[in-house]
Order: sequence, then C-alpha cells, then structure tokens
Amino acid sequence: MKPYRVLIVEAHPFQLEYVLNVFNEVGGFTVDTVRDGVFALECLALHAYDLLLCDLLMPIMDGVQLIQKVAALEQPPALALVSAAPRRMLVSAELAAKNLGLSVLGLIAKPVETDALRHLKARLAVARLNAESACVHTLNIDPRSIELAMNNGQIQAWFQPKISLRNGNILSAEALVRWAHPESGLLLPKDFLSALISLGLEERLLWLMLEQTLQAQRQWRARGRDVPVSINLPTHLLNEHDLVDRLRNYVVNHGTEPSRIVFELMESSTTEELGNYYAGACRLRMMGFGLAQDDFGKGFSSYFNLISTPFSELKIDRSLVHGCAENESLACALISLVQLSRKLGLTVVAEGVETRAELDFLRSIECDQAQGFFIGGATSCSDFAAELYSYPFNRPALSVR
Ligand code: C2E
Ligand code: CA
Ligand code: CA
Repeated sequence: MKPYRVLIVEAHPFQLEYVLNVFNEVGGFTVDTVRDGVFALECLALHAYDLLLCDLLMPIMDGVQLIQKVAALEQPPALALVSAAPRRMLVSAELAAKNLGLSVLGLIAKPVETDALRHLKARLAVARLNAESACVHTLNIDPRSIELAMNNGQIQAWFQPKISLRNGNILSAEALVRWAHPESGLLLPKDFLSALISLGLEERLLWLMLEQTLQAQRQWRARGRDVPVSINLPTHLLNEHDLVDRLRNYVVNHGTEPSRIVFELMESSTTEELGNYYAGACRLRMMGFGLAQDDFGKGFSSYFNLISTPFSELKIDRSLVHGCAENESLACALISLVQLSRKLGLTVVAEGVETRAELDFLRSIECDQAQGFFIGGATSCSDFAAELYSYPFNRPALSVR
C-alpha cells in the first residue's frame, strides 16, 4: 500500500526524535519534519501531504494560527493535533479547524503512543477510501437526473433501527434517503442531497419518504409488526401553513395512525418567522404525530427551544455520543441531558452509537433508546423486515447484560 506522506511540526529536537521513533515502529509513513509553522507552510506549498501533525503551543506561529492558514490552501492535508494542552482546548481547536473546512483525524495527548498512532493510521485509510469513492461518485452524477430518479423508484427510503436500551428490542426506525444509482451504486445523502435541495425538491422528498414509509409499515404490519418510523422534516417547510393538515390527511387516508409517524425537526434550517415554527410544531403534535428535536448538541441547538417546543423525543447528536465512555465531559453532558429529558417527559435517543462501551454507558445512565452503526445501519424495507424477526438473537453483542 502507498505510504502516507506526513508533515510533522515540532520545535523540540528531543520530542521530535521520540515521535519519529513511534512513526517508525508503526510503519507505513513517509515523514518530513519542520520546526515551526512558517517552515510548515513552505513545505505545504511545495508538496502534497496526507497528514499534518502539529501542536497547539508552538513558537512563532501557534497551532490555531497555522490551522487558519492551512485552511486557506487549495488542497489542505488532513490534520492531527498532538498536544499536552487540556482536552477542551484541543476540542475547540478541532472545531475551529472543522468549521474552516479541514478534516481532523485525531486529537492525541502527548506523549504519542503507538496505539494512538495506529488509530490515526486506520482513520487515514478510511479517509483515503472515502476520497477515492467520492471521486467516482462526483464523476457520474448529473443533478438533472435527480428528479427522474425520484419518479422511477431509484430514490428510496431505507430504515435504520432504534433499539430499547432496556431490553435490546427494535422499537422503531428512522427513514433515511438512499439513491440506488444504476452506474454509481448506492449513494448517500452527502452525494446528492444538496443538489436535490438546490433544485427545490425538498418538499417532494418529504412526500416520497412518507409515501414509502407508509408502504413499508403496511408490509411489516402484514407480518405482525407495528413499527413507528421517524421522518426528517426540514424545519423551514413549516413556513407553509397547510403542510401539517396535508400530512395528517395523507397519513389518515392511507389507514395509518399519526402516532406511528415521528417528524424529526432538523437544525440545519429554520422558518422565516419564528411564529410559523411554533405553530407548525404545536399543530403536528395536536394532530397526533410524534415530534423529535434532531441532532441536539450539534451546532447551536438551544435549551430554550427544547423546553418551549412540544417535542415528544430528543435525539442527541453523535458528536456528544462518540467517545462518551472515555470522555468525562461528554459523559457529564449526556447524564444531564438524560435527566432533563426525563423531567420534560421526552423519550431520549442517543445517535451514532458505534461501540459496545458507548452502548453500555448509555444503558448505565438510563438513556431510553440508541441508534448507530454498532446496532445496525440503514437497510431497505425488506432487509429491515428480516432484521425485525432475527433481532436481537442474531446479534449477541447487543443482548442486555
Ligand atoms: P440524520 O438525520 O442525523 O441521520 C443520521 C445519520 O447518521 C445517517 O446518515 C446515518 O446513516 C448516520 N449514522 C447512523 N449511525 C451512525 C453511526 O453510528 N456513526 C456515524 N458516523 N453515522 C451514523 P445519512 O443517511 O448519510 O444521512 C445524513 C443526513 O442527511 C441525515 O442526518 C439528515 O440530516 C439528512 N437526510 C437523510 N435522509 C433524509 C431525508 O429523507 N430528508 C431530508 N430532508 N434529509 C435527510
Ligand atoms: Ca434525523
Ligand atoms: Ca440526527
């Protein structure tokens, strides 16, 4: 495999020698080294690197200043921050980098250990694979074909399970859009959602997801399983006052109770008038639908919004869940969110559960439900039906201990 080209910025000769030894021990890297940010920028102008490894506290130019300059490069490398600074400092530097468009593959405490570097290497491998498949995807997608794909069944609702943390059973699902593209294979929202939005097809997508969800629920019901499904509702669609009535009529006319559908209000958009937001949220609940705050904790979700909207469910964003078993700050945030949800009478769902340790921690703090790759990714309607019957017996790792 092609080695990863890495640029290390390290001012102290002793520490540099130590880090180089760790890189040699793990292997698979070609490493260049410089002693400060100015030299780093010169190197980055001359060569393409897979990874830039730097500290926060550095002479001449600190790590955050270097991040700001690197973000302005045409093809910036991925970044790993190595520092003895407190973890929260590293996390805010990471957020600075991510919001400037950089990919951050690791936050590593000094001294760098071989295990930490092995993890970083694994993330570099995933990043390389993603970059390769992104190239393939973008080559083949014609935005004009999106509308056609919505009409001919290529754009589909897939379903990701949400399980009870009390008994491990599948309680419900989230509908996630997928495009079964004839040439490029299965495409994810990141590959086509922004093009779909710019074509003004977001409301059309909502109806497509609802239609396919009701069909799926009918198929599962015919096999004896009643599964509530959550559907993503971009908040700005509530600007249309009659949307809620149309949703209710559609669901009822298709023989389904509104309580079997939960709308997830997404943080990424908002109504022009705050009044439309509250009116829409309130009426969705009055019609009997479930209502979830999606992605809580990501971006700028507000506590005021949470306590003043009649939500039935709180979905905690994966940025607060990922690593919660080892990170004390995340653990504290989760404990307080679970307690708050309990007081507000909300069902609390942790998103993005990727490990057994995260699942066990969430169970120990009495979070209600979990969703994530450790439990299962999104699958087609028929594969989900198969999961419903075999689960959790086919997944011993998920059984309650
Ligand atoms: P979301 O609503 O927060 O959906 C959860 C996303 O997290 C899904 O990505 C899911 O596959 C992914 N995920 C689930 N478990 C894990 C995990 O353990 N680790 C990680 N890293 N990710 C996990 P997906 O399907 O790619 O969707 C991305 C976003 O696209 C969604 O985020 C939602 O904002 C949007 N989206 C998806 N389907 C629809 C849709 O039908 N309508 C609209 N308007 N937006 C949608
Ligand atoms: Ca969602
Ligand atoms: Ca979410």
